[in-house]
Amino acid sequence: MRTGGKLTTEAVSGRVDRLAVVLGDQLDARSPVLRGLDARRDAVLMMEVKQESTHVVSHRQRTALFLSAMRGFARSLQQREIRVRYVRMDDPANTQSFTGEVKRAIIEHEPKLVQIVRPGERRVLQEVQSWPKLFKTDVDVREDTHFLTDLAEFADWLAGRKRPIMDHFYRAQRRRLDVLLRAGKPIGGAWSFDAENRDTFREAPDPPAPSPFRPSHDTREVLDLVRRSFPSAPGNLESLPWPVTRRQALRALREFVDNRLPLFGRFQDAMWSGQPFLYHSLLSPALNLKLLGPREVVDAALGAYQTGKAPLNSVEGFVRQIIGWREFIRGVYWAEGPDYGERNALDQHGRLPQFYWSGETEMACMRDAIGQVLRYGYGHHIQRLMVTGNFALIAGVAPRAISDWYLGMYVDAVDWVTLPNTLGMVMHADGGIVGTKPYAASGRYINRMSNYCNGCRYDPAKRTGPDACPFTTFYWDFLERNKRRLVGNPRMAMALRNVDRLERAERQQIRRRAGQLRTEFEVEA
Ligand code: FAD
Ligand code: SF4
Repeated sequence: MRTGGKLTTEAVSGRVDRLAVVLGDQLDARSPVLRGLDARRDAVLMMEVKQESTHVVSHRQRTALFLSAMRGFARSLQQREIRVRYVRMDDPANTQSFTGEVKRAIIEHEPKLVQIVRPGERRVLQEVQSWPKLFKTDVDVREDTHFLTDLAEFADWLAGRKRPIMDHFYRAQRRRLDVLLRAGKPIGGAWSFDAENRDTFREAPDPPAPSPFRPSHDTREVLDLVRRSFPSAPGNLESLPWPVTRRQALRALREFVDNRLPLFGRFQDAMWSGQPFLYHSLLSPALNLKLLGPREVVDAALGAYQTGKAPLNSVEGFVRQIIGWREFIRGVYWAEGPDYGERNALDQHGRLPQFYWSGETEMACMRDAIGQVLRYGYGHHIQRLMVTGNFALIAGVAPRAISDWYLGMYVDAVDWVTLPNTLGMVMHADGGIVGTKPYAASGRYINRMSNYCNGCRYDPAKRTGPDACPFTTFYWDFLERNKRRLVGNPRMAMALRNVDRLERAERQQIRRRAGQLRTEFEVEA
């Protein structure tokens, strides 16, 4: 369906008083910069710029998702009689950068004020902060009201603590937001039911497949545009299985709550070949584009608990991800300094193996997890943490190389959320701010939580030899290499004791095999 007027730069002409800049991940109808806009005197600026799809190698579905959702949002603004200067990617005059496009808009419309919500990436914030000097215009950066915790609140919580611990933050959030409490105590008698949430998928009923979205005219145009503009970018682009409008996002939320939330908890940590989504919500793209708000998502899950449609272990597990992890990760991103992205506490410098871009590897778990990313731009948390991330950690890949891969390849990736998860939680490169220990694991863990190893040429139980699982070899090698760095961490004590129990000869064999694998996978030249 085609709605509203044309999406072009010509939709706005002459002078404007206020120019409200809306970025691709700020599609919140209640955004502070949209408040009180005068239909005749003010205008919105939206920009499709190639810079954002090329500063890291980007999955074509990710680019298409952003552009398609932006076009849908621009049309929804036009329906509210808001004027939108919309810069299409294939507009010949497009400078393909935010600063270039803001400059063109300022020259044409001479706004008294440029307003923007704090971008979700420090790189873009720094660009915005250069505008007042560059353009001699007032630029008002508004705080992002989409989140449940504003940055000042997070700073207050952080003040006086030795280190931020997610579990403490989560309890404080439950109390502050009055979620799943009775008389000030957690419903069910515990703050977390994770112990009940570790079933393997073996006995589970097949999760209902998410229903597809019918592509609008805009989406079809965007798919063509992205195919033409990024012919060699990675990722499948036959269709776009992600919600791109608020209406579609609300449908996705309803479907999750009705069909998958009841078993979300039990199978949260499971991995299974041919089951890319399991019982996960698939809501991160809509949340991160701001088509959905965290409070409404939490309320929908709580509603399912109150009406007996979903059990407590599922609802608590889901709510923890939203009010706990998601808000915590964002708080850490902004609380840590601009050098956060360059940290490398474990001093790792390897290259990212080529198979991260193709999925072509004999490791069945990696083939499945990466293949899924190429197909959908999606992997669920345990695949990200314990397969693609774990491999990079224990093989010794440089944190920035793997962080950039995550940032470009996942449809829900925006720096505020991708970076602390990757560099912090997976790579332990922040020295233990996001995660209290490195989530290093051998092939045995993957074998326990999935069926991947059944179809693999490697043996998850073997540490050395030609059919030893690379995860298992790298795991032991990682512990040995990092013993001195990890020795003070009580959560690593048992793992380190196990390394010490190995015979010297076996340790040497592990080191040799790990070296061979690093050469074979081109982590090291
Ligand atoms: P569900 O499993 O259904 O979880 C529900 C929601 O909780 C998610 O939609 C998400 O909004 C939130 N959530 C859960 N865990 C986290 C977390 N650790 N941090 C922030 N939010 C969380 N999430 C992103 O949104 N964007 C990313 O770029 C991203 N990169 C990641 C990279 C790595 C290496 C790891 C380990 C995790 C990453 N995550 C990221 C967190 C998490 O894996 C995804 O949010 C989740 O897999 C998205 O799928 P879902 O919506 O089906 O999630
Ligand atoms: Fe992955 Fe190792 Fe299992 Fe193969 S044996 S699927 S490489 S964990």
